[in-house]
Amino acid sequence: MSTHDCIFCKIVNGEIPCVEIYSDDNVLAFLDIGPVNRGHTLIIPKQHYANIFDIPAEIAPAIISTQQTVGKAILATTGATGLNIFMNNHPDAGQLVFHAHWHLIPRFSDDGLKHWPQA
Ligand code: IMP
Repeated sequence: MSTHDCIFCKIVNGEIPCVEIYSDDNVLAFLDIGPVNRGHTLIIPKQHYANIFDIPAEIAPAIISTQQTVGKAILATTGATGLNIFMNNHPDAGQLVFHAHWHLIPRFSDDGLKHWPQA
């Protein structure tokens, strides 16, 4: 898929709106349009990489730093008492959008969601 057709590139470029949580030169965080829990957030590199295997290692510190910063903010603002951070790579792992992204899913003691990897 070219970056021209990528929905997350369109969000980065402002062609599609998002609820922005955090942005810097390299990374964008925004609310997931189909949240599995209140405050479900996605973190993406602004540059297009299809999945974890395409991302240059130099990008990793910015991603992890954003996970920490945004993760703490999500915990503070939602009152969540836990946080799942994960990503899907390739269709058989559930990847639907082929612009690398991490899911940050706030967890609450009574949210009824299962603990991964239980089916
Ligand atoms: P994946 O299955 O890991 O690829 O997850 C893709 C995620 O992107 C899903 O959780 C979708 O709800 C989310 N998503 C798709 N389109 C949009 C959008 O336009 N804005 C925000 N989130 C989106």
